Amino acid sequence: MAVQLRTKMALTHGAIAVLTIVLVVAASYLLINSRFLDYVTENKLRIHQELADHFKEAYQVGVWDQKKLSELTMEALENGYLIELRDKNGSILWESNMLGEGLVNDTMLRIEERIREHYGPKPVSLQSHLYELKHEEEPIGELEVKYYSKYFLTDHELMFLRYLNKSLLWVAGISLLLALGLSTVISSSISNQLSKIIEVAKSLARGETNHYKQLTDSSIVEIAELGVTINDLGEEIKEKEASNKRLSADIAHELRTPLTTLQSHLEALMEGIWQPTPDRLASCHEEIVRMAGLVNDLEQLNKYDVANIKLVKTTFDFRELLANIITNFERDFTKKNVALSFVGELVQISADREKIGQVIVNLISNSLKYTHEGGRVLISLEHDQNFVYLVVNDNGIGISPQDQPYIFDRLYRADPSRTRATGGAGIGLAIAKAIVETHKGQISVISQENKGTEFTVILPKK
Ligand code: ADP
Repeated sequence: MAVQLRTKMALTHGAIAVLTIVLVVAASYLLINSRFLDYVTENKLRIHQELADHFKEAYQVGVWDQKKLSELTMEALENGYLIELRDKNGSILWESNMLGEGLVNDTMLRIEERIREHYGPKPVSLQSHLYELKHEEEPIGELEVKYYSKYFLTDHELMFLRYLNKSLLWVAGISLLLALGLSTVISSSISNQLSKIIEVAKSLARGETNHYKQLTDSSIVEIAELGVTINDLGEEIKEKEASNKRLSADIAHELRTPLTTLQSHLEALMEGIWQPTPDRLASCHEEIVRMAGLVNDLEQLNKYDVANIKLVKTTFDFRELLANIITNFERDFTKKNVALSFVGELVQISADREKIGQVIVNLISNSLKYTHEGGRVLISLEHDQNFVYLVVNDNGIGISPQDQPYIFDRLYRADPSRTRATGGAGIGLAIAKAIVETHKGQISVISQENKGTEFTVILPKK
């Protein structure tokens, strides 16, 4: 059965607290009680000895002071001791009963009751101790002290024990309340912090990124990390959402221009303003081809979304791949009258051949697209121990410094009107960058307007 964290923590803490308190209190109770009783017993023996000494003092030059004996016996009885004083021949000189049997019985009964009150109905038994009495090294008799074994406690001692036990119970009760209170406060705070995170996660799941709020800090590392993770997740979702919005706006913008042109051309043809000459039809066809190209590009964009790129690595010769692609481009270069030259050494590389091919195609087709007739493109391939370096250099139109930071972004074109004429949608470099980075490589550009552009790709050999 699932229970709330708050309840579970309060119950667990409560149980641990109860157990600890019971153990501590029980241990203290047993220890203190037994120690105390030991102390009481020792004390009793000391008192008996003192009693014996006092009785000894009642003997003066062969005569026992009867008054003093009576006083001492009374005092002993009040303290719970029965005494019997015998002379050196063993005849009884004085005993507690001589104070009156009724008084002795009453006192002893009172003591018995007190003992039962504290220890329960255990049978109580009398213990006795014998003390030899001497006067100037001469034996004068003996004193027998009888008392209720170690169970016997005075009113003060009983009161002390009662206070002690009561205090232990108070300590136990207060500690238990404190433990329960504290655990409720702590578990509530943890539970509240988690509830906040859950609330934010739920609102994110519902797609409410606008209401998404930053989570407050927590002093608990794990909860703080969870909060940060949810924050990051929220930011990421927000960014993705914004990027998706940008993308659809860009796509709409891209499609609207050729569609509007096509629409106005067709309307002009339908209304008879225009004659369907081969030129006009060719212009309409061109727009359709451009849209088809754009749709194609969009498909590519999905395929090469950084998160989706899965590499199928093989070991192949980079120079050979590059040479094949250059061969395929030769006709287009000749057609546009752009000179193409290539230098490079054979170099083995472990990478995704098809995707690296895509990067090379994008760079070479850009260099052709953005270089005027009569221009030239130089391609070089070098390598060192760990990396290969591919450089595509042209003396074309170049890229302005303002545009350079953005050319690797999706759907970014340095000059929309200019590139529309060349058919690019601004995704070739974004794709190239994603592929190169998935290979843990780098792509960079150096360019000067109206002078030319140089792209460098660095890829690890393994
Ligand atoms: P596109 O499909 O528009 O060529 P890319 O992502 O390949 O998209 O390139 C982005 C932009 O970078 C291009 O629109 C162009 O403005 C600029 N660019 C890329 N390569 C070159 C180059 N060799 N010379 C000049 N500009 C370039």
